[in-house]
Amino acid sequence: MRAMRIEAPGVLRPARVPAPEPGPGQVLVRVHACGVCRTDLHLLDGEVAIPHPPITPGHQIVGTVVRRGPGEPRGEPLAEGARVGIPWLGWTCGTCRHCLAGRENLCDRALFTGRDIDGGFAELAVADERFCFPLPEGYSDLQVAPLLCAGLIGYRALRMTGEAPRLGLYGFGAAAHVIAQVAVFEGRSVFAFTRAGDAAAQALARTLGAEWAGGSDESPPQELDAAIIFAAAGELVPVALRALGKGGVVVCAGIHMSDIPAFPYEILWGERAIRSVANLTREDAREFLALAPRVPVRTEVHPYGLADAGRALEDLRAGRFTGAAVLRV
Ligand SMILES: [Zn+2]
Ligand SMILES: [Zn+2]
Repeated sequence: MRAMRIEAPGVLRPARVPAPEPGPGQVLVRVHACGVCRTDLHLLDGEVAIPHPPITPGHQIVGTVVRRGPGEPRGEPLAEGARVGIPWLGWTCGTCRHCLAGRENLCDRALFTGRDIDGGFAELAVADERFCFPLPEGYSDLQVAPLLCAGLIGYRALRMTGEAPRLGLYGFGAAAHVIAQVAVFEGRSVFAFTRAGDAAAQALARTLGAEWAGGSDESPPQELDAAIIFAAAGELVPVALRALGKGGVVVCAGIHMSDIPAFPYEILWGERAIRSVANLTREDAREFLALAPRVPVRTEVHPYGLADAGRALEDLRAGRFTGAAVLRV
């Protein structure tokens, strides 16, 4: 089968590899679409380490089940032909203290799709069927793909802001364009911060219901109760802290960020908090995939062919599109 593989930092190449075989408890999935995420760029750039290269990246997989592996199902078995989504969280141990505390996103031995397990920049993928999710009808394969990471991890980040009525989103890409819609649906006011001068992203934010949109070098018209930073830029942490009212929280939603510059304690004082969000739980996935069609979340998608994965990643890096890039496989 055809796949795009990361062989070494900076090296993404097309490859012909043997079709994967599903083991016990796994399913073989024919990939129809796979979203492109900033994490894929971090993996390519070597900012997030790949334990055993080469690897096929891609962790927002939409496909149909070809067949199940041998043996008894470990949960509700997936039917052949069923459309499923495969997210970043690919396997957890179920026995470590984080798993036992309901925080499998923090599992010490977790395996992640497209980092430890070959992902969806390929014609076929194998996944543990307990970590595959039925997808809401009414979304095409391309439209639903960004819900699987931009949506899911964005949703977990949104939950970390509690009930915050005035929400800032720093970095208005794939995740923010999904989560802005959920936040507006929940009755919050959204303030969108883009790269300075990115009129297209600011216009998209307003279309999706943001009360205000501007550059991250600008101050919002009102004090924020919470901010989520989706951009990988550590210098945004003190910027967001300065925009927060007392008791507010800054949630860093990315897997990698450049160093956070030193800042005066007074901008943290007043019970302001900074926290990160890591990965997702299957509970997040079930909740969000049920919520998305009720909003309803609409995704702005830019399709690329499988062979153009490298171009999609470079366009993401350069901010050449608004919304989300998705590979049509
Ligand atoms: Zn992702
Ligand atoms: Zn565990």
